[in-house]
Amino acid sequence: MSLRDLLAARIAAQGPITVAEYMAECLMHPRFGYYATRDPLGAQGDFITAPEISQMFGELIGLSLAQAWMDQGQPSPFTLAEAGPGRGTLMADALRATRAVPGFHAAAQVVLIEASPTLRDVQSQTLASHAPKWIDHVDALPQQPLFFIANEFFDALPIRQFQRDGEHWRERQIGLDDGRLRFGLGPAQPQPALDHRHEDTADGDLVEDCPSAAPIIDAIGRRIADHGGAGLIIDYGDWRSLGDTLQAVKGHEPSDPLVDPGEADLTAHVDFEALAQAAPCRYSRLTPQGVFLERLGITQRAQALAKGLTGDPLDQLIAAHRRLTHPDEMGQLFKVLGLYPEGHQPPPGLDP
Ligand code: SAH
Repeated sequence: MSLRDLLAARIAAQGPITVAEYMAECLMHPRFGYYATRDPLGAQGDFITAPEISQMFGELIGLSLAQAWMDQGQPSPFTLAEAGPGRGTLMADALRATRAVPGFHAAAQVVLIEASPTLRDVQSQTLASHAPKWIDHVDALPQQPLFFIANEFFDALPIRQFQRDGEHWRERQIGLDDGRLRFGLGPAQPQPALDHRHEDTADGDLVEDCPSAAPIIDAIGRRIADHGGAGLIIDYGDWRSLGDTLQAVKGHEPSDPLVDPGEADLTAHVDFEALAQAAPCRYSRLTPQGVFLERLGITQRAQALAKGLTGDPLDQLIAAHRRLTHPDEMGQLFKVLGLYPEGHQPPPGLDP
């Protein structure tokens, strides 16, 4: 039995499933799901993320949030939370970099929102000395000031896809064709949630909607609006996405999303406009990752780390700096959205 067989049996019995249903099963099926069953990150895994490229990424994010915490009068206690923390590397780097910030660690309660039991195990090792608490959903975040991080979390949330047909939309579905999984389209229907996309789309265009993103942003933004705090949401995508951005990656290479379900990472670009509009607090300008990291001093940090390095380690550091910041690498494709309370500035590195 494989996930492909399970999905084929379900489709044969009940009809086509949505892209969101397919993504959810591929990523989080308890027995066969991609994240549920493995640690996919790093050079040996299927893909590599910014915190796994260099310690500088998590350090600068930690310092940005610690500065926001100081600017808001050092509230205590507060929640230091991360959604989808992967191997816990970003949080570990952020905590190490903020050790010298007086009172920050004493006031911080580290909370991790993680669905994968395998990755929870890895995180419990990486972050053992900080006694993190795991929760399944942002709704369980404590009612207190919240300083929040999400890197490559929102791109893993299931999306629905709709193709425009006149004033209506046809949902992209996954059905069976001769026993093989195949994309198809559902019936043309009105989709009130997509009314605003009539202005920037033409017949046949495809748009995406991530139904679980807005409730998550609402829960985070409400803590920040009511109790103070800040959020840094980092992901690839743009203010408004157009077209099919569903992609599968296996062994650092693109693959067919319908082949070997559960064996490849599936993601979609993040529609930051939808996140911002769901936020019940203030949000920053959407800022390219390269610009954000340069403003926070990544070049000075790299120079400090380079002291005393030669040969391969020095080359790796220079390559990591380039990879995180250069427009041809992650610098432009990845964006940062900041959340912050009324009457305050966004976290350092971002503009109001
Ligand atoms: N932030 C990390 C990992 C990114 S991979 C990094 O930058 O390296 C995506 C992470 O989100 C994984 O930890 C995955 O298990 C988690 N995740 C995906 N969907 C989730 C969900 N619905 N709820 C909680 N965690 C989820």
